[in-house]
Amino acid sequence: MILPIYAFGQPVLREPALEVEGDSPELQTLIDDMIETMHEAHGAGLAAPQIGKSLRLFVADLTSYAEDLADEDGVVPEYATKPLVFINPEIVLDEESPEVDVEEGCLSIPELRETVWRPDALKVRFLDRHFQAQEMVADGPLSRVIQHEGDHLDGVLYLDHLSPLRRRLLKRRLNAIARGDIEADYPLSFVRS
Ligand code: ZN
Repeated sequence: MILPIYAFGQPVLREPALEVEGDSPELQTLIDDMIETMHEAHGAGLAAPQIGKSLRLFVADLTSYAEDLADEDGVVPEYATKPLVFINPEIVLDEESPEVDVEEGCLSIPELRETVWRPDALKVRFLDRHFQAQEMVADGPLSRVIQHEGDHLDGVLYLDHLSPLRRRLLKRRLNAIARGDIEADYPLSFVRS
């Protein structure tokens, strides 16, 4: 089922999310719905607060980067071949790795894209959708998506990484999004809807 994505201005996007306590049929349905919703909106990631659930859970899909991520023999890393599920992730940034600037967008903030600086590399521990403990070292687009979605679980948006001046310049457009004064080709939920 495709779920409406909570737009900028919705309080849940600013709340630290709660640990996922355990598996349930409802959780598995929620994960399937989040993957379907991410695909419908052509996003590379979607965090549970973005569909109004304050849970430490996000999904990601790097398949659109598969060609770029392939090695010289054309072999695509496994993580870029299918949707990924991260439950209760613990992200440790590699502060030694160089910061890189990448243009980011967010399904909760339609139409806007801004350059965000973040460290390139990280390590993440998490549970997959079968509640198996996993550990991953990431850089490039995977690291970027994990950092962006991980921020959502702490009530942080990529806007918070921009300069105060840049944020001031975006204020009117952000207010318009919060009012629902925006077009998107996927369903959105606004504060007053
Ligand atoms: Zn986002």
